[in-house]
Amino acid sequence: MIGEIIAIGNELTSGRVLDTNSRFAAGQLFGAGHEIIAMATIGDSPEEIGRALKRAIARSDFVVVTGGLGATSDDLTNEAVALALKRPSVLFPEVLEKIRRCPAGQSATEMRLLEKLAWLPDGAEVLSPERRMAGYLLIHDHTPVFFLPGVPHEMQELLAERVIPRLALWQGESVRRVRQRVYKIFGRPEIEINRLVGHLEKASPRVRIGYYPVFPEVHLSLTVIDGPPATPAPAPSATTSIDTTANLFDRLAAQIEAALGDCIFGRDEETLEGVVGCLLRTRAQTLALAESCTGGLIAGKLTALPGSSAYFSGGVVSYSNDLKEKFLGVGHQLLLAHGAVSGPVARAMAEGVRERAGVDLALSVTGIAGPGGGSAEKPVGTVYFGLATLERTLDFLYRFAGDRRQIREIAAATALDLLRRHLLGKLLQP
Ligand code: AMP
Ligand code: MG
Repeated sequence: MIGEIIAIGNELTSGRVLDTNSRFAAGQLFGAGHEIIAMATIGDSPEEIGRALKRAIARSDFVVVTGGLGATSDDLTNEAVALALKRPSVLFPEVLEKIRRCPAGQSATEMRLLEKLAWLPDGAEVLSPERRMAGYLLIHDHTPVFFLPGVPHEMQELLAERVIPRLALWQGESVRRVRQRVYKIFGRPEIEINRLVGHLEKASPRVRIGYYPVFPEVHLSLTVIDGPPATPAPAPSATTSIDTTANLFDRLAAQIEAALGDCIFGRDEETLEGVVGCLLRTRAQTLALAESCTGGLIAGKLTALPGSSAYFSGGVVSYSNDLKEKFLGVGHQLLLAHGAVSGPVARAMAEGVRERAGVDLALSVTGIAGPGGGSAEKPVGTVYFGLATLERTLDFLYRFAGDRRQIREIAAATALDLLRRHLLGKLLQP
């Protein structure tokens, strides 16, 4: 279904609190097969909230609202609903009883304030009567509008336990189903990806391809929306419509996969380090690292994965030349002859850590992250990688653009991608 999210609160529009609720809700709803066409952030102003609600109800199949449901005088969502949707607040005795039954040490005045939570718009259906912050559903102009509290964990629980299951039931009435997949790509710029697959969008107006640079990766989303409800719907056409959407989706997915090949490292929730970890595990390979300019960034990503001890032995952060010699056995003469940022030193680092750790596979990184330290021959962004296996040792030269943080981040991702390609047997000889 096509949805919209409205986050309410002056703390959001003043920049004091980051609107994490919308991001969370969008991710969950997307995962459940819905498409979010708009996310609005509105201050605690009944007029603005009312306008946003009316616009959302008019153009979307469902709306999720978070915030502004609290007991304090600045929470005005229900007031906005009363004004804009002509639904005055009425007392919900079961909610009131719940509030009165579990006083958490409030004074009589505080209790009266809390009782505000029992006044909800006429026609509201309480989503979770067991909770004080119950949240509610209002069906307005045949559109379900879910009102959830702003407190992130309360919103998250209600969304997962009430909203998503309710929408799944509702879907029976709406034919606009959405199929989506996110492809995660590394090593190709957004514009080139667009050139390779952009034409696929022409297959049907129901197809959308989105490009999202999530540095240093690019995420591509393929979305196929079911046709609009047929009126009147003859029985067989509904099935045909769903089948056609599935076929169209599968055909486009195959075309995207063929066009982008092994630049696609994962799908949906997969991460580069997760994919590498999985490959190491299934191929029963062990890994060690020798990191210079990434300073442990790669080891940090790998060890963030539970169970990584099965394949990751450890690493050396050999930042100085001295440590490259002492801990990795890189030759003094080699460092003098080629410099620390060089192919021969990258290879020696990888071989050194592989032998010392007694692992199958070792990877090294040595480069110039900047802003200082560059030269005409080796400008900032010059990074060498070494890859040592029992049979051979390779080195790779890359020149990255960006600031220090970006260069370190893209170097770490490149290292993981080199490992991924090696484990897939698709590493091109430099
Ligand atoms: P409310 O339900 O508007 O009283 O919100 C309660 C608290 O939840 C606020 O004080 C914020 O700290 C937090 N909050 C509200 N809306 C959001 C949001 N969209 N994202 C993250 N936190 C929020
Ligand atoms: Mg608020």
